[in-house]
Amino acid sequence: MLDAVIKNATLIPMTEDNLVIYNASIGIKDGLIAYIGSEPPEASEVVDAHGHIVMPGLINAHAHTAMCIMRGYADDYPLKQWLYEKVFPVEARLDERAIVSGAMLGMAEMLRTGTTSFSDMYFCQPAVADAVKNVGMRANLCNAVLALGDDYDFNSDRAVAETYELLDYYGANGLIRADVGIHAEYTSPPHVWKLAHEIAAASGAITHIHLSETSLEHEQAKQRHGMTATAAFEKNGILDTRVLAAHGVWLEENDMAILAAHGASVAHCPVSNLKLGSGIANISAMLKAGVNVCLGTDGACSNNSLDLFEEIKLAALLAKGSTLDPSNITAYEALKLATVNGAKAQGREDETGRIAVGLSADMIMIDTSAPHLFPMYDPISTVVYSARGSDVELTMVGGKVLYRGGEWTSIDVRQVMRDVREFAVPVVLNRTNLG
Ligand SMILES: [Zn+2]
Repeated sequence: MLDAVIKNATLIPMTEDNLVIYNASIGIKDGLIAYIGSEPPEASEVVDAHGHIVMPGLINAHAHTAMCIMRGYADDYPLKQWLYEKVFPVEARLDERAIVSGAMLGMAEMLRTGTTSFSDMYFCQPAVADAVKNVGMRANLCNAVLALGDDYDFNSDRAVAETYELLDYYGANGLIRADVGIHAEYTSPPHVWKLAHEIAAASGAITHIHLSETSLEHEQAKQRHGMTATAAFEKNGILDTRVLAAHGVWLEENDMAILAAHGASVAHCPVSNLKLGSGIANISAMLKAGVNVCLGTDGACSNNSLDLFEEIKLAALLAKGSTLDPSNITAYEALKLATVNGAKAQGREDETGRIAVGLSADMIMIDTSAPHLFPMYDPISTVVYSARGSDVELTMVGGKVLYRGGEWTSIDVRQVMRDVREFAVPVVLNRTNLG
């Protein structure tokens, strides 16, 4: 007998272009999808999905989850000023308690809005990993190397120590995985990239980087290296193993060809790119070149939300508007960015991102009873152009329900907000107490 069955679902399995299966039943056994068909098999637990769309959980391929503690703290600045004057000083003050409280808040928001797996770059990742484990989400975690001073020493870099700690404990293949992080071309020299990449090559971990986010950064890289950041990363061997590059707003045609040739992924972060005035990434060209494009929210200090539904819709709209071609990035293609392609970017394409027998039961149920989702001629169009994260009714990871109808099963949300208020907000504001 199966552990659970979801019946009467309007299923978007993401296994075949534009496929929708009506009145579908999805059976779950030992955390995996064990059955997809029209008749509900016998199961210990039955979930009636009548009036709901069921689809794979969304994948947030570029996040700084703990930055939720800085949500709304520094708006309307250009990236360089925002980063160096607002974000870095706060980050220098942050301790583990503040970071974990922010990561918990971010996970609560992601589960509430249908995200089941995320790729995260931030600090104190072993402690965040423990929190992710307790919550039950899927995550690729890294603390990225950032070699800013002249006295930088790779071997005493805390990010490197955390990378080894995560690799030793979780490896590069489980529910929680270690990635290797190189913050960006402009925050470390090539010999540091190479040292970091040696860890990726030895462990099979993915290398997570920021790439060509702003025009200034892109042009300065060319002055520094005599070539683009992408070409410099390639020249130094960083692209020889799997790379997940965030942004890619200013990628040139040759950069896209390089990334495609190396099987690299680009995490498109449209809200963050617009909010920081960085520009609009040309994802139609990237996809055409063969780059695996996925979606990320970036941190909540430049977004200010972790709701991937916003990114999905915006990705489709920006591609149409910026190319004057409304057939660019169809609804189905937009949905692929947040599911199938995200899974590939995380090295999890055989594990999640689609609803197929043998894959992990990472699913969401979207309540379609609200007026803004009616009438529903095409469920894929409804999800991409009309739905919001708040329409998610149930979020499941590995067969476990982690959010359902306003309740989190593994997060005490009130306590998390109290922790953020107590441990994080005073640090952000640089006050010892709020008075
Ligand atoms: Zn980022």
